Amino acid sequence: MQSIRELKRLLQTKKLSVKELVHETYKNLEKNPFGAVLDLNLQASIDEAEKVQNRINQGEDGSLLGIPVVHKDVLVTKKWKTTAGSKFLKNYVSAFDATVVKNLFEAGMVCVGKASCDEFAMGSANQNCAYGKCSNPWDQLAVPGGSSGGSAALVGGNFVPVATGTDTGGSIRQPAAMCGISGLKPTYGRVSRWGLIAYASSLDQAGPLTKSAYDCGLVMNSMAGYDMKDSTSFPEPNPDFCKFMNEGFSDSSIVRPLEKVSIGIPKEYLAAVSNSVLPAFQEAIRTFEFLGASIREISLPSTPYSVAAYYVIAPAEASSNLAKFDGIRFGQRSRGVKSLEELYTRSRTEGFGEEVKRRILVGTFVLSHGYYDAYYLQALKVRNLVIADFDAAFKECNFILSPTSPVVAWDINGSPDLQKSEANFEGVPKEYLADILTVGASLAGLPAISIPCGILEVNNRNRPIGLQIIGKRFEEPQVLQVANAFQTETHWHTLSSSEDLV
Ligand code: GLN
Repeated sequence: MQSIRELKRLLQTKKLSVKELVHETYKNLEKNPFGAVLDLNLQASIDEAEKVQNRINQGEDGSLLGIPVVHKDVLVTKKWKTTAGSKFLKNYVSAFDATVVKNLFEAGMVCVGKASCDEFAMGSANQNCAYGKCSNPWDQLAVPGGSSGGSAALVGGNFVPVATGTDTGGSIRQPAAMCGISGLKPTYGRVSRWGLIAYASSLDQAGPLTKSAYDCGLVMNSMAGYDMKDSTSFPEPNPDFCKFMNEGFSDSSIVRPLEKVSIGIPKEYLAAVSNSVLPAFQEAIRTFEFLGASIREISLPSTPYSVAAYYVIAPAEASSNLAKFDGIRFGQRSRGVKSLEELYTRSRTEGFGEEVKRRILVGTFVLSHGYYDAYYLQALKVRNLVIADFDAAFKECNFILSPTSPVVAWDINGSPDLQKSEANFEGVPKEYLADILTVGASLAGLPAISIPCGILEVNNRNRPIGLQIIGKRFEEPQVLQVANAFQTETHWHTLSSSEDLV
């Protein structure tokens, strides 16, 4: 699949019509590649294509006009079902479009379907979807990451140039890493959460999954922005997210484009990274040095507590957010019940999957009288420490760099091979521990991107490795600049999952 700019050129020069592009995309998505597709509506896509074609014919020249997009199935849509990967919302159709969906449509993007995800975005492997597991475009034996696994697989597998995702504790960055693509989690407040089915409202952010950092910037220009319907949205106009980027080529007059940039590497993050991922990361550091950046070790001392804090705060908020799924208002309503209580109980028992139930139970427990102080309040204090860690670190450097995940994609039905997890976390699911490098930026609300930086060969198959760049609050343009500089110097983002690289 071409970049946004290449597709735009074909569309603007009429070498390709929007309808042709939509038909071709539909034909491929219809086969449900990687189990990543949850709903298609050809007529709705064609209607959108015709509207956009008119705009192109009238000479309009937006970057996203006619570009296909799939939306993660937690973003509500009027013309496509929105299930959030849950049986609870089987066949649910929203009465309105999420602001993200609306913004991208207004910018001329054509929705070509809805992408699979973990149920209510709870998971790290896209194996918790009520409509089937999703696989990795690079290696069908591997998971695509999660929870935006369907979105990442469809971009990584070259079925669409752009997908939306949401990230609460890593769900854009980690699947982007595992599928060899670029994925940006914006600053909390940058993108409207209106119409995003809430998992943990103080952490949830929607963002783009694309092939390159440049394309992430192009999508952000239309996706982000103040929305009066979301009280936590940032009340300032968008910057030009691409303002510090030159697409696809280095400006030869700037030999060391990152000369003034200082990059910190948290020693606590590095300590968690598995040996199989480290060489690619070290090579990435050398690239940044070559680009002129200065590299230093920094410390984020609260890191060992961040996963625990996240897995208290996120379920606590989820238990409250999911209370609205009661058998009366949305979706699932169990039949043959004798009382209101039985209606609640049966609908929730039948409608929710195992992981969602686990989180509701945990969340309700940590908020309950007698445990609130010991768990929820304690977790909020850790969150403040994590925020303070980042504030202190950003006095020493402009960006923070690490691998996105301590491991590459693991096997379907397997679990992450964490060589370095703490012994005192025995009994905690390994998938939770594998979130250690992404939950920090989420708890602190910081922008962070994952871009590809290598390939690990596993049993003669390729599994991508991702690099995370965390920036200061509202400095997405700078984060994208650094990511783009890396991509002008490296080829990882141009590799295709369908090529035989081994
Ligand atoms: N893996 C994390 C979780 O299961 C993150 C999910 C997300 O960001 N939506 O909570």
